[in-house]
Amino acid sequence: MQTNFTAEQLKDADVAASEQILRKCVHCGFCTATCPTYVLLGDELDSPRGRIYLIKDMLEHGRPATEEVVRHVDRCLSCLACMTTCPSGVHYQHLIDHARVHVEKTYRRPWRERIARSALAAVLPYPARFAAALTLGRLLAPAAGVLPASFRRLLRLLPPADRTAPAARRVPPAEKNAPAGHAPPAEQSPGAAPAEQSPGAAPAEQSPRAAPAARPAWSEPAVRKDAAPRSGPLRVALLDGCVQSVLAPRINAAAERLLRRAGADVVRVPGCCGAIVHHLGRDDRNRSLAQPLISRLARGIGAGDVDAIAVTASGCGTHAKDYGFIFRTDPELAGDAAVVSDRVRDIAELLDELDLPAPAEPPGGTVAYHSACSMQHGQRVERQPRELLARAGFEVAEIGEGHLCCGSAGTYNLLQPRIAEALRERKLAHVARTGAGIVATGNIGCMTQLASASDVPIAHTVELIDWAHGGPPPAGLGARASGGADPVSADGRFRGR
Ligand code: SF4
Ligand code: SF4
Repeated sequence: MQTNFTAEQLKDADVAASEQILRKCVHCGFCTATCPTYVLLGDELDSPRGRIYLIKDMLEHGRPATEEVVRHVDRCLSCLACMTTCPSGVHYQHLIDHARVHVEKTYRRPWRERIARSALAAVLPYPARFAAALTLGRLLAPAAGVLPASFRRLLRLLPPADRTAPAARRVPPAEKNAPAGHAPPAEQSPGAAPAEQSPGAAPAEQSPRAAPAARPAWSEPAVRKDAAPRSGPLRVALLDGCVQSVLAPRINAAAERLLRRAGADVVRVPGCCGAIVHHLGRDDRNRSLAQPLISRLARGIGAGDVDAIAVTASGCGTHAKDYGFIFRTDPELAGDAAVVSDRVRDIAELLDELDLPAPAEPPGGTVAYHSACSMQHGQRVERQPRELLARAGFEVAEIGEGHLCCGSAGTYNLLQPRIAEALRERKLAHVARTGAGIVATGNIGCMTQLASASDVPIAHTVELIDWAHGGPPPAGLGARASGGADPVSADGRFRGR
């Protein structure tokens, strides 16, 4: 695509980067077939190609964002399905990120939107504030009309009270593969965060996908299989994050048990990575959240205490893997950000690299695997979660239209509820067709979004694998009794279908 930026404009590093991205687009439109908003709404301006034109026009003319641009940029889920589909290697992620920052700097939103977005940015990244807001919101639920609309939606998405993992029904077997001194840990470790067309159209058949563009791998594996034997266990920093640490601390408890079973040393690292505010276009707040985390992790890497950084929320993992680009022009952070990005792994990548052994007593049962957009399109991690589930003894069922977003997308389901609900219903209709007794996914946002309207329990992938290795059953399995037989039999096994 031809561009028309002046030399003066291109002195801005973000404009220069966007110009390079725009020049790669050849207008072919392959991306429209896999874009959820185009599939639902059928408007070219709600397709990647249409948004690219809008963003190009806005940036070339150095104009403030207009209401029309904001409407279509806001409707983008940042699911990145268009990047997986694009044969020309257009890095839409960085382009839409730049556009969101430009919108925040140049467009004055209606006051209700300003309040909602500011409240989300001020609460969600901070576990103590988020926990307090949830408690308050639940107390005020009978008078919910006094709450901002986005928080009413948030309360509707959440279970009535924080779930805690049911007691284990099976005694964890002795760990044959764990080295001495690496026994499975207690449920929660010290230092963890506080306990924490029209929308609705019938699902269509799987859209054809163009050959994906080549994308560089994320550096070398954290565990190099051809390297000399390690002198000690792999040292893993496990990020606790923000929202997940409040809603489902059981996920990182399961991840920690699995990492230790695989022979790793684990240290839990609290703190929000900044992904939530980054998607709201708030780059200053993103930096203020990411900076202490990056500095702490870089110090650990520099001291030889951190070999890999494990993330159990794929939305956060996608963001942390992009720190090197996001802070590339930041004189204080650029070096550390690149070092940290290079060590980040989704938990499934790491467990796969560590060759987590098969459980002694595989549970069986069919699991529908929902690949979060940030997992499949953002990080291109597709094989590992499926193989880990299969190795743990589950039959893995694929969900139709697996490339389409479930509507979660960070705060999208709070700010764009109509499209988000249509995508959720479409996804759940496909889940029902699998006949599986449970859905596994690797992102807390998808878990919350799907569970708010699903008859089938939704679990994190590591919860299921941990359960197969003797850990507690995922929340919602043991306690679930409505609408049919308890999917966990008397001996603690998942019945499946
Ligand atoms: S598929 Fe890629 S090159 Fe084609 S229109 Fe979409 S972004 Fe542009
Ligand atoms: S990120 Fe997702 S919603 Fe946004 S343009 Fe790309 S495919 Fe469409």
